[in-house]
Amino acid sequence: MSSFHAVAIPSEVARAVRATMKSPKYGFPAHKEVAAGRAPCRHCLELVKLNEEEAILFTLDAFHGQNVPPSPGPVYIHAKECPRYDERPGIPETYRGRLLTLEAFGSDRRLLAEVRVANGEEEAATKVLLAKPEVEYVHVRSTEAGCYLFRLERN
Ligand SMILES: [Zn+2]
Repeated sequence: MSSFHAVAIPSEVARAVRATMKSPKYGFPAHKEVAAGRAPCRHCLELVKLNEEEAILFTLDAFHGQNVPPSPGPVYIHAKECPRYDERPGIPETYRGRLLTLEAFGSDRRLLAEVRVANGEEEAATKVLLAKPEVEYVHVRSTEAGCYLFRLERN
């Protein structure tokens, strides 16, 4: 079993965005549309169904709640309520085998390593990063789009 798990955005953030159609902290207007491409929801970590379900695009600080300098960027969530990802061990299924960038951060948000993975290397690469005691957590981004997806933490 994996020694780490993915952490999705808090439900309060998803709820606030759906209720206000504004980006938390920034107040920028959020945008709602039927998913026209690969749109991973940062709350349930599943994909918003293409040409079927609505997604809300908004600006998220990838370091939300971590008390370090922010790094805002665009993310999607389901427009309708969805269950928050349950933090089961390992890389969430939807992201396995994808082109991912793993960013390993130490204290005070210091970037210690950046690794691009493909062909299902994400599990092994994460284990290597989290085996280093100075690494506190790992951010996962889409290598193609550059967008923040979720955080990985030790169990
Ligand atoms: Zn969702």
